[in-house]
Amino acid sequence: MPAKIIDGSKIAKSILEEIKHKVKNMKQKPGLALVMVGSNPASEVYVNFKEKDSKEAGFYCERYNLKEDISEMDLLKLVTELNQKPEIHGVLVQLPLPKHLDEKLVTNSILPQKDVDGFTPLSLGRLLCEDTIMAPATARAAINLIESTGIKIEGKNAVVVGRSNIVGKPTALMLLEKNATVTVCHSKTKNMAEFTKKADILVVAAGRPNLITKEMVKEGAVVIDVGINRVGGKLVGDVDFEKVKEVAGFITPVPGGVGPMTRAMLMENTLKAMELSKKFSK
Ligand code: NAP
Repeated sequence: MPAKIIDGSKIAKSILEEIKHKVKNMKQKPGLALVMVGSNPASEVYVNFKEKDSKEAGFYCERYNLKEDISEMDLLKLVTELNQKPEIHGVLVQLPLPKHLDEKLVTNSILPQKDVDGFTPLSLGRLLCEDTIMAPATARAAINLIESTGIKIEGKNAVVVGRSNIVGKPTALMLLEKNATVTVCHSKTKNMAEFTKKADILVVAAGRPNLITKEMVKEGAVVIDVGINRVGGKLVGDVDFEKVKEVAGFITPVPGGVGPMTRAMLMENTLKAMELSKKFSK
């Protein structure tokens, strides 16, 4: 039987509707600052979506389109100002940044309670200690999509392909926290199929089109494709969707899977950041 398609767009839409409903009755609105440096076309698309979502959800949104050659000092100054603004609860600096800017330094300058991306060492460290303030939106999206299938994570063999600090590692940690037995594969993994073939849950975040073929997937597995690749003007994931769906139990499409869900999680994180700001101001 072909896999059930996990409709990330539909699930994300209902989450956004819920947020919108909550925000409607709020006196103070959640505030999100979106900072973009330069004119990377992919980043522009992502930031446009985030701006659209936040406005639709009824958030207060400030967008900063900064020149490609902005100095590190000026960018850090802006982040510091946003950290201090009471009407801004979440600060997001779109990555990647131009080469002359130190991404780590800039990301780390965001106040932890405003770190809606969950990329600062403190946010990631807290995730490691099972004391999460804000988990990275894409990892949260992957977990939510797995849970949307009704399949229990506890006790399952989960394999995560990719070990970036913003997707692979936090997803692996969250699966571990939910009591899966977790294996992380990466570019130096030998015979990756031996691991993926045993996965009840397979999350792929490598940025390599068609990395995961039908032969590498266990029958009935939940397959979450995080990858976004542009091939011949078309967006595709890391999984050979058409073939893998013949063996998987559940699978996310690209587009329409993890992407929209990540954006919904970002809005949830911003709402949470506003709630946190009340605690921090006490
Ligand atoms: P990244 O920082 O480039 O990390 C890629 C990871 O994949 C690395 O750990 C790398 O291993 C591993 N890898 C690369 N080639 C591999 C191979 N042939 N076999 C096994 N592992 C391999 O990328 P990222 O930021 O985590 O993003 C991953 C993908 O997700 C990208 O396509 C990105 O566009 C997409 N993404 C989607 C969303 C969304 O909302 N849908 C959000 C974020 C990212 P090494 O560590 O050994 O180099």
